[in-house]
Amino acid sequence: MAEISQVAGSDGVKTKTSMIERPRMDADIVCVGFGPATAGFLSTLSRQLVNADGTPAVESAVAPGLPPQVLCYERADDIGFGVSGVVTQARALRASFPDIEKAGIPMAAPVGEEKVLYLLDPIGASRRSALLRLADKAIRAFQWALPFERDALNLPWTPGFLHKRGGMVLSMGQFMQWVGAQVQGTGAVQIWPGTPVSQALIENGKVAGVRLLDQGVTKVGAPGDGFTPGMDIHAALTVVGDGPVGAVGRQLDDLLGLPENHHTRDWAVGMKFVVDLPEDTPLKPGAVLHTFGYPEPEIFGFLYAHPGRVASLGIFVPSWFDTPVRTAYRYLQHWMTHPSLWHFLKGAKLRSWGAKTLGESGRRGEPHLAGDGYARIGEGSGSTNVLTGSGVDEAWATGALLAQAVLELLKAKKPFTKENLEATYVQRRRASWLEQESRAAEKSRDGFQRGVLPGLIGMALAGLSGGRLVLPGRPLRPWERIPPLEDYFRGRIPPAEARKIRDDCYARGVSAHAALMERAGWPAIVCDGQLLVSHQDALLLGGKVQAPPGYADHVAFVFPNECGRCGTKLCVEACSGQAITPGENGAPNFDREKCVHCGACLWNCATASPENPERTAAAFRPAPGGLHSAEN
Ligand SMILES: Cc1cc2nc3c(=O)[nH]c(=O)nc-3n(C[C@H](O)[C@H](O)[C@H](O)COP(=O)(O)OP(=O)(O)OC[C@H]3O[C@@H](n4cnc5c(N)ncnc54)[C@H](O)[C@@H]3O)c2cc1C
Ligand code: SF4
Ligand code: SF4
Repeated sequence: MAEISQVAGSDGVKTKTSMIERPRMDADIVCVGFGPATAGFLSTLSRQLVNADGTPAVESAVAPGLPPQVLCYERADDIGFGVSGVVTQARALRASFPDIEKAGIPMAAPVGEEKVLYLLDPIGASRRSALLRLADKAIRAFQWALPFERDALNLPWTPGFLHKRGGMVLSMGQFMQWVGAQVQGTGAVQIWPGTPVSQALIENGKVAGVRLLDQGVTKVGAPGDGFTPGMDIHAALTVVGDGPVGAVGRQLDDLLGLPENHHTRDWAVGMKFVVDLPEDTPLKPGAVLHTFGYPEPEIFGFLYAHPGRVASLGIFVPSWFDTPVRTAYRYLQHWMTHPSLWHFLKGAKLRSWGAKTLGESGRRGEPHLAGDGYARIGEGSGSTNVLTGSGVDEAWATGALLAQAVLELLKAKKPFTKENLEATYVQRRRASWLEQESRAAEKSRDGFQRGVLPGLIGMALAGLSGGRLVLPGRPLRPWERIPPLEDYFRGRIPPAEARKIRDDCYARGVSAHAALMERAGWPAIVCDGQLLVSHQDALLLGGKVQAPPGYADHVAFVFPNECGRCGTKLCVEACSGQAITPGENGAPNFDREKCVHCGACLWNCATASPENPERTAAAFRPAPGGLHSAEN
């Protein structure tokens, strides 16, 4: 394994250790990000740092006589402003909070009826293989004998691994706010939202803490009015729980590489609405609906009912959906208007909206879990189970296991070396259900590299055989998967016309997916002002997106030559917030005020980084702001 030997940015752009004099603070433990993983870590740790009589259970190295000083920095403007499902078996959550059901967490409900619907194409616009069209014909021909309603087949049987029986439907935002209050209520931990970490501090081959983001800088990061250099927080242990697209995790990956045969090539963007359901909704709290097949076969959907006639719903658009117009927002609108969903959603009203990247490489994306001075937890540590589509419980479990390891080391007065963390944290992980289940899931999605049907068959095989049987497939890098526009629309739009539509749109400074999709047969969306709203209205009404001034642009096109040569600008088409638009001379424009920090531009780029083929030509860096809603 490589030694940590330099300071580097997270996007292949090298940054020199700055000569600027920075304020410094010393802590015992510093955490990057307050997602479910860090919440699991801090919930477990904070309860055991102080004895019942108020004396320290273990002593701080930086504040003698006090318990260890534990700080957590979260980039979002408040706790729980991220996006997630969530239906979860809640095994790890219950281990931390045995009475979680009785805790009165808003929007929580026990899982009730679970259904999986195969959605047929009611309008004939979806790109379906010949085999899928044949299957659709057969389903329609025998619909009288099948559980078929409103252009959807309700699968009469679904394998056990897809079920979340006995689990919970939560709003992750509400849950995280509740956990944040519990953790801070112990008095043993401080959580600082609105405070992005810019990078890990690397000293003498070790992670020595973190540097917070500079404030009072220009769009390109140069000191401006009111310049305040980010503070250096030195700590014996840095806990990296910054999620799938976190900059600190990527910085460590760039410095250390990944273990042999590991990679992070598989991604998805999850886009989500929280809605008020109509008064006469038949959906009971706890109802769980999963869909596949439409608007495109590659797109999976979900709908979870909360108490009080509220539902979370959305779609996942994966990186193996080989299209140059990978727009989640437009597809979400078509998904909502499928007759089987519209049946529940007609009359519903948007409350909240957002999007977020999921790391879909799972166990295969696992980085070096621990090193001198640091440990990785959560989705960025490869914890998400890609077979069951479960990430929260797994992320939480990694955090709880790390906390047990840290307590063991603190009590034994042993330093946080690679060796000690591997003997305590990594070993606990290897011995846990997480390892067993993530191994079984590791290759379960490889079939999707060849198409939707092989993908579904591969998942079923892996799920039913505990991972022993799989359909092989070679995961490509995201940028290797993007066909030219002309090829993608071949047979639907003449190549010259497709190019002209794109060029006309780009000349007007707007994305081309809507015009291209409508020319290819997708109906225009008729906005109703309450659920079917324009993308801009979703930003304002649903996302309440904000961008505090004084920070550098966090999305950057650092290889303008590559952007200049790029034909269909996938970053523009896929941007979850319409924050990236076609610019002059080929490089796109970026508008921070519209960015929901989904991280999708990091992998929705059609060109490799000239510095690292595992990365793309787009940079996504830490910043505050984004969504202002704790319902997602
Ligand atoms: C739409 C959607 C639906 C989902 N549905 C489900 C579901 O039903 N069930 C399920 O189990 N899982 C679901 N997931 C997956 C689940 O959300 C993730 O697996 C889980 O959130 C991972 O937790 P984490 O703590 O590792 O990372 P995250 O939740 O990503 O948290 C990381 C935190 O770090 C912060 N951060 C990042 N960089 C920095 C920085 N530089 N400085 C400071 N803070 C930083 C981020 O703002 C974030 O709060 C869903 C995901 C999405 C997007
Ligand atoms: S960031 Fe990537 S997709 Fe966007 S214009 Fe540049 S090369 Fe093309
Ligand atoms: S610019 Fe912002 S909203 Fe657009 S894809 Fe990137 S992170 Fe998401």
